[in-house]
Amino acid sequence: MKKKEEVKRQRIIIYYALAIVLPCLILGVLALRGIKNDQALVEREQRRNLLEAGQQIIRETDAYLISIENSFSEITDSTAIPCITIFNDSLLNHFNAQHQVVAGIFFLSGSGVPFLLNNGLLYVPDDFMAVADIEGSSAIQSVMEKGWQTEFRENNYPKALKYYEHILPNVMGEQSEAEILNAIARVLKKMKQDDKAIETYDLIWNDYSQVLIQNNIPSGAVALLEKSHLYLNKKDTISALKTVRLLMSQMQKPCWKMGYSYFAYFQSKTDEIISRCDNSCNEESGSLLEWIHSLKDSLSLSAKHTEYLLAFLGNSEIIPGNIKPDSENNNHRFKTLINGKSYLFSLLPGNDKGKWGLIMDPGYLLNNAIHRSILKNAEESNFYWEVADANGELLLKSEYIPEDKPPVNTVFPSNLPPWSLILYPEDSGLFVSLLRPGKSLFLYIFIGIVIILACGLFFTLQTVNNELHLSKMKSYFISTVSHEFKSPLTSIRQMAEMLVHGRVPSPERQQKYYTSILKQSERLSHLIDNILDFSKMEEGQKLFHFEKADITPVVSDIVESFQQHTVDQGFHINLVIPDPLPDVVFDREAMEQVMHNLLDNACKYSGDSRKIEVHLLSKGNKIIISVRDNGVGIRKEDHDKIFSRFYRAGEELTQTVKGSGIGLTIVKQIVEAHNGTIDVESEVGKGSRFTVRIPLHGI
Ligand code: ADP
Repeated sequence: MKKKEEVKRQRIIIYYALAIVLPCLILGVLALRGIKNDQALVEREQRRNLLEAGQQIIRETDAYLISIENSFSEITDSTAIPCITIFNDSLLNHFNAQHQVVAGIFFLSGSGVPFLLNNGLLYVPDDFMAVADIEGSSAIQSVMEKGWQTEFRENNYPKALKYYEHILPNVMGEQSEAEILNAIARVLKKMKQDDKAIETYDLIWNDYSQVLIQNNIPSGAVALLEKSHLYLNKKDTISALKTVRLLMSQMQKPCWKMGYSYFAYFQSKTDEIISRCDNSCNEESGSLLEWIHSLKDSLSLSAKHTEYLLAFLGNSEIIPGNIKPDSENNNHRFKTLINGKSYLFSLLPGNDKGKWGLIMDPGYLLNNAIHRSILKNAEESNFYWEVADANGELLLKSEYIPEDKPPVNTVFPSNLPPWSLILYPEDSGLFVSLLRPGKSLFLYIFIGIVIILACGLFFTLQTVNNELHLSKMKSYFISTVSHEFKSPLTSIRQMAEMLVHGRVPSPERQQKYYTSILKQSERLSHLIDNILDFSKMEEGQKLFHFEKADITPVVSDIVESFQQHTVDQGFHINLVIPDPLPDVVFDREAMEQVMHNLLDNACKYSGDSRKIEVHLLSKGNKIIISVRDNGVGIRKEDHDKIFSRFYRAGEELTQTVKGSGIGLTIVKQIVEAHNGTIDVESEVGKGSRFTVRIPLHGI
């Protein structure tokens, strides 16, 4: 039997698989391929967008530089052509200060000689200072000669001091005065008259700061340096540091015209003083030192910038070579490498006399114009990004870089720094990319197919299971019902035969046979009633005849008749009615059937117990009838199932006790037709209590 059902179930599943799963799978595979194609399309579109974004960033960077070049060319029209190599021009200085991306401004003469704007140069190459040097120093030299002899050869400081002090009022010109005052301060220092020396240096600093002495050293710088040494001698660290700070801030400004060697000299000397003071641990000097160190950093940064610009000037021979017409480079912007540093410069169209040029600061360009443009485009096109130099070293990158996405590389054109822009598409997993509007048709088809398949499989299996279960139940029902019919019929026939053939002589025995035949036929008719009612209810054709009456006689009659029928089996049915009951709306026959089925079950499943209790009472607006036995009980998991059609709980029990599995189903349907409820409390081995609650006013 089981095998047959299994085969049936398998066959249904195979049909289902062939008719639904297989086509769905084929559709699914097609949809999946569609998804993949869709994704490839999405990726291709993404790459195209990235390429376009890269080009846009380049265009914006170029436009930014062009706008600066244009505004520069507007002012150069009215700018005088420079005549010294490192020249000054206030208008150009102003322009340079306004446009931070401009690192320097230069002029390239018609013959290819470069001139550099001195905008913030901390020093100039030494050979540029040599020219200024000669005239001033030669005049004073002869006057100073004697003093130097006494000071340096004879080491007679008082005499030298006297001499210097003597000639001071007689010399003419700032440079000579500064030179002599410097000599006086120096001798005073040698004579250990530190305070007087400091006073003299103060005088130099106040009145002769800009004057160049001894081969083009600004006397103010010498005065400050010497003063700080003197303070150090006096162990006055604070004053020494304050003086050094002043010296450094002057060097940074830059207010002195200084050759490279002197600049380097002053830089190293100030470093020396700073390092000598570094260990002093008082609070004031600590904060001064902090200040000085940051000054030192910015000084060395400006010095680097100066070096960068001067290197460009020093290697100017590359410029004429570069300005050959270049088809790709039509906006006169060039790149070159000097001492390992890259330069980007623009050379504006000029005339025979020469051309003006701008040296661009690549760092500023990157961190400002390019960075801004990247962020703007990234917001619109959603990408992650890196900027790398020609060696592949990263210069700038977004916070997150996806590892598994192949990037799109865009190399900057030759009129921009030699960098490349690496753009990564945003995370677009198979499904993420497909969930974009308009891109998800295949995905939806695929999901739809999967859902249909899953639901189809679920419902098919459930239906198959239900059907198989029902058919099993039905065949079981037929066999048990036939069995139920067979035994009473057999005994009725046997007893009737014996009576007909006069084989039962004694009248008492005859009476017993008649009674038995009556009982068996009653049982049969009850069984038939059950089956007929069940089939009527299944088809929804069962008619009820409700009337409002007292239910007590109905219940007590049934209990009494059951008591009579079962008395010879030893049953004792106790009916408890605590109070008189109000009238209730009910169908008499149906309620008789309910009571009959419940009492029949209580007897059938009573096990060894013979005690049954029936309670009839009213509570609230309900009539409550409960039938309690002390029999075999019902497992908890079967409590709900026993009310289902054909269900018989407990395999062992159902084999020994006759039944059809429809008794309680009928009870439940009748009770529900009365708008009532039925429930069961039961424990295996202890018995069961079925409680029916019927509302007084019915439906
Ligand atoms: P059956 O004809 O099998 O009695 P029912 O629908 O009347 O069919 O009952 C369904 C099942 O409920 C029974 O097979 C039995 O396992 C269980 N059952 C019903 N009444 C009782 C009871 N009083 N005690 C124990 N089990 C019961």
